[in-house]
Amino acid sequence: MADEPNPSEGPRPRRRKREYECCCCRRQVAFCWSCTCGFSICQECMDENAWGMTCNFVTWTCPDCGASNSYANQ
Ligand SMILES: [Zn+2]
Ligand SMILES: [Zn+2]
Repeated sequence: MADEPNPSEGPRPRRRKREYECCCCRRQVAFCWSCTCGFSICQECMDENAWGMTCNFVTWTCPDCGASNSYANQ
């Protein structure tokens, strides 16, 4: 009677390094500006859209919910 290991109990898939998905370009990036509603945008897209998202570079407005988020280097 061989005690065979349960084939369904293989090594668990490791979770990838925590990354964000940009809601704008859909890329996985290491850092995103994110809103409490779940919207996130990468630095590149933020730079491209800064003219429409922030007027003072102190806060940026979420295009999804309209909330103001702090635009400060983290
Ligand atoms: Zn992006
Ligand atoms: Zn939002």
